[in-house]
Amino acid sequence: MTAKMDKWHVVLDPGHGGSESGFTTDTLIEKEINLAVCRRLQTILEGYGVDVLLTRTGDVDVSAVKRAELAAAMEADLFVSWHCDFLTDEEVSGVSLWVNENVDEHYMIEFELIGDAIVDATKQIMLGVFQDSDKVLSLVEVPAVQIRGAFLSSVLERDCCKNPDFLQAQAQGAARGIIRVLQQLSPNV
Ligand SMILES: [Zn+2]
Repeated sequence: MTAKMDKWHVVLDPGHGGSESGFTTDTLIEKEINLAVCRRLQTILEGYGVDVLLTRTGDVDVSAVKRAELAAAMEADLFVSWHCDFLTDEEVSGVSLWVNENVDEHYMIEFELIGDAIVDATKQIMLGVFQDSDKVLSLVEVPAVQIRGAFLSSVLERDCCKNPDFLQAQAQGAARGIIRVLQQLSPNV
């Protein structure tokens, strides 16, 4: 067995980048928040001994196909895409997790662990795990989840996202949840 096989492999996918900003407010740009959380998450997971690859490390365009190819090339145990959310209702806040349509239900139950761990760290609301058709997730062939960490439409969570301590807490919670999921999905690593 090679050293490479002894480790869990996780691809972190900061949503958007380059010409795609994602949701924006007067002071916040989603693509920047996504990258900031993923970078923190990378550091924490590497501290746990996980082999981590980011689909982008800077403010660049990355196609959905390329993101999926990176997951396949790494033979990732898990693909985690990070996004923010936005609604016209400013009162809605919380963390939601998304899987592609037709994903086996047991993954949805597993991924709930990640959401629970995030809200445990940040005291946000866990909204649940939902199915949707997503371009990136539909192309990724390994277990994949999209985390929407906060609503940029929420006055409360907009303020939170300006605070590095909040982003760090999100990353710490997510890392704990991801480790639990890896233990369930790939226990023999
Ligand atoms: Zn997004």
